[in-house]
Amino acid sequence: IHPSAARRPHAIVVQSENTAYSDEYITAKYENRSAEVTVTDGQFLVNPTVQSFEFQTKRVPGKTGLMMIGVGGNNGTTLCATILANRHNIVWHTKQGIQQPNYIGSLLRASTVRIGTEASTGKDVHVPVSDVLPMVHPNDLVLGGWDISGVPLEKAMERAQVLDYDLQRQVAPHMALLGKPLPSIYYPDFIAANQETRADNLIPGQDKQTHLEHIRADIRKFKKDNGLDRAVVFWTANTERYSDIIPGVNDTAENLLSSIKSSHPEVSPSTLFAVAAILEGEPFINGAPQNTFVPGVIALAELHKSFIGGDDLKSGQTKLKSVLAEFLVNAGIKPLSISSYNHLGNNDGRNLSAEKQFRSKEISKSSVVDDMVDANRVLYKAPEVGEKGVPVGKGEHPDHIVVIKYVPAVGDSKRAIDEYYSEIFCGGRNTISIFNECEDSLLATPLILDLTILTELLTRVKYRKTSSGETKEFAPLYPVLSLLSYMLKAPLVKPGTDVVNSLNRQRNALESFLKACLGLESNNGDLLMETRVW
Ligand code: NAD
Repeated sequence: IHPSAARRPHAIVVQSENTAYSDEYITAKYENRSAEVTVTDGQFLVNPTVQSFEFQTKRVPGKTGLMMIGVGGNNGTTLCATILANRHNIVWHTKQGIQQPNYIGSLLRASTVRIGTEASTGKDVHVPVSDVLPMVHPNDLVLGGWDISGVPLEKAMERAQVLDYDLQRQVAPHMALLGKPLPSIYYPDFIAANQETRADNLIPGQDKQTHLEHIRADIRKFKKDNGLDRAVVFWTANTERYSDIIPGVNDTAENLLSSIKSSHPEVSPSTLFAVAAILEGEPFINGAPQNTFVPGVIALAELHKSFIGGDDLKSGQTKLKSVLAEFLVNAGIKPLSISSYNHLGNNDGRNLSAEKQFRSKEISKSSVVDDMVDANRVLYKAPEVGEKGVPVGKGEHPDHIVVIKYVPAVGDSKRAIDEYYSEIFCGGRNTISIFNECEDSLLATPLILDLTILTELLTRVKYRKTSSGETKEFAPLYPVLSLLSYMLKAPLVKPGTDVVNSLNRQRNALESFLKACLGLESNNGDLLMETRVW
């Protein structure tokens, strides 16, 4: 048996009539408590609500593969090399001394949740997030993928200039065993012209239907060759330009499939990969900012009950912004402007130096403070209400700009400079300046791992609503995995629902959901009632 399939003892066992364990499943009853509010004449009428759920989690993760599109890039090679270093326990010398491999930066492997208080001492008990439910260990992921650059992975790692030489030297023979990336799809119109010289490993022709079938066959073969139960398909290739949303072309599942058949120019490589994964019933995650998930892709995922998640990894500047902006607004301080500058010198930066690709990144970085501003109409004026009660515009909002420049000398070490300029008490002003030096690929790699492992877990969770009294079959979760939002800059959510950008709320949602699958309440953690009463 592959190590990931072998049963690990569960670190947490919940002893409650709401939680049942069988060989195959953990089944838990959970009450979702919320409130419904009606606003009339400035008064808020609040009705508490309770909805009953039952969650069923398959206990043993299947053998899981990670197929990266762009595996030969900085993120792709850094991920492969660091997993191999962890798997083979490779230690290396740096100028500071001996370095052990680890998973620092992974929410799942390196952070904890509070599960209660110790029975005898009353002290908080924390466990690693990865112990809450059975999850795949990153060392057990089977690695593979595509790249338009055919450079073998050990050489591509060298080209990336991310890892210490001594690690590169030792991990290279293991990287060589992963071989060359699979040939990929290249439509020059979608990525910057400066990427053309890399494109030497291509699936022949320009027929999009043939390309789709080729990618589907690659996924099937990878699963079969490696005996996989699951293959998560992950876009960590160059940022593409936005696709135009054209009625009749990519607006419905049916139109999108027929546009692929007719090789319509507006179908991007990333959309083709997403469609291939959906049709194969394998999850697809978009780690870059472009609008891979045109409406037709979301509709297709719904139709096939296949999981998707995106967009754009939230590694440095935006992660900090989603914390700082929320801190300011929740402290009752009013940011008037947020000005963000980046410069970076890796191939991602080179690609983003082209206008259309920069625009994709600019869009994904822009909306991160919207929900915090919308949540505080004491500080920011609400939009005017137009005819039939429909709001006009977005209402008052801080000025927000994002600049990205390509500076080859700094390589993978991205520099992010942010200024938060805020109004404080009685006309005062406050300025906070941040200089954030991010080793880009070393911040992004743990996010790719978390996204992959969480996605695999969420494919094993089923639910049913029990409030209505009738017992329905357990069903899979909704295909757009908004629970992944913590790791994503511009989270994709169920159409018609609000995006949450606040990092704290995103983490709470994830923690609450994992606990709910064990039948544990999460909201009482910080109330610490026992410390407030006699
Ligand atoms: P990179 O340029 O080093 O790697 C991208 C790889 O994708 C290259 O090897 C390129 O040859 C390949 N590629 C391009 N088009 C392809 C296609 N159609 N099929 C297969 N391969 C293709 O970039 P990176 O630093 O690894 O970043 C990857 C992506 O992740 C970028 O889109 C970037 O914007 C996004 N991202 C990165 C970070 C970070 O912190 N590193 C954060 C957020 C988002």
